[in-house]
Amino acid sequence: MERGPLADALGALEQPRFRAQQIFQWLYQRGVSDPLLMTDLPLGLRQQLAAAFVMTTPTLLHRERSTDGTEKFLLALPHGQQVEAVFIPDTPAMTFCISTQVGCAMACAFCLTGKMGLTRNLTAGEIVGQVRVLAHVLSMRDTRFNIVLMGMGEPLHNYDETMKALRILADPHGFKLSARRITLSTVGLLPALERLAQEPVMPNLAISLHAPTDAQRGELVPLNKKYGVADIIEACRRFPLKRRDRITFEYVLLAGVNDSPADARRLATLLDGLRSKVNLIPLNAAAGIPFERPSDEAIDRFAKILAERQLIVSVRKSRGRDIRAACGQLIVDGPRQSPGQQLSALTFGMPVVGRPEVG
Ligand code: SAH
Repeated sequence: MERGPLADALGALEQPRFRAQQIFQWLYQRGVSDPLLMTDLPLGLRQQLAAAFVMTTPTLLHRERSTDGTEKFLLALPHGQQVEAVFIPDTPAMTFCISTQVGCAMACAFCLTGKMGLTRNLTAGEIVGQVRVLAHVLSMRDTRFNIVLMGMGEPLHNYDETMKALRILADPHGFKLSARRITLSTVGLLPALERLAQEPVMPNLAISLHAPTDAQRGELVPLNKKYGVADIIEACRRFPLKRRDRITFEYVLLAGVNDSPADARRLATLLDGLRSKVNLIPLNAAAGIPFERPSDEAIDRFAKILAERQLIVSVRKSRGRDIRAACGQLIVDGPRQSPGQQLSALTFGMPVVGRPEVG
């Protein structure tokens, strides 16, 4: 619940509205979710809360640490589904990579999560719950961190719960995470993108572009058949940006598919005059993904062409690849598997549900 509706609910219990602030502080700043332990609330209220509200927290099933310090967390939700969240330290900021759906419906050709299909949307509570668990197990409740909505799922395909989660995370009595510390990455669901442009507080925007033409992008991102490159770029040109803000364009580099000098020049022309920065993501290759990562020379050459055309360009360093925590590598098996999940379980020998907690 957001704090306003929580205050309303407390009002209905004939309790003062300001108790909602205290409850938020307990939940998010002190990491206490059992109302009976919220010792500055009157005992009667604590008992009422325990009887009338449920606070569910994702359960940590498994924790895995990469040689580069990245950590991947496998979390169980009520009803047995699972999601993954990732902690990426020192980038130079501390970053939590959070999921918004169990699986994903977008089916991008190079993404393992896309192979799972969509099981369901996460609730705002489950999205914020990942942040609560990571802040707790990493002892980071008093440390600044950023959030990227780049875990499993397409955030704009779960618009309402994602935006609600961002409001809860921003609450001054909670995590106080301003929208500037949050980056939402989307494949470009146009109607939702236009809705986002109307929001009073907006996260940083990253668009998964991946190719400069519809012919190429259509092969990689099925949704492109509905919302094409020109429409997305047009919506980005209209997107209200604050003075120094830029839209990030993510571009997964695939050898021989979208990494030629001509592709780089077409991309530069497409983004001409847009307040943008380009984040090149060399493919994280995996069994079952029918693409290859380009050579370092090809990556450099691509980046140089963009830089020569005055674009701000960075190459995303792959983190946590050894534990399959890198971009596009988040995938879990649930009790009820989609055909895509079964396929990837066969291919990758993924763990099944109910693994004991480690770490
Ligand atoms: N659904 C959101 C968030 C996806 S994850 C979106 O599409 O933007 C963040 C980024 O990782 C996206 O740009 C996604 O396309 C990219 N990605 C997916 N699979 C990848 C892979 N195998 N290697 C590198 N990047 C990948």
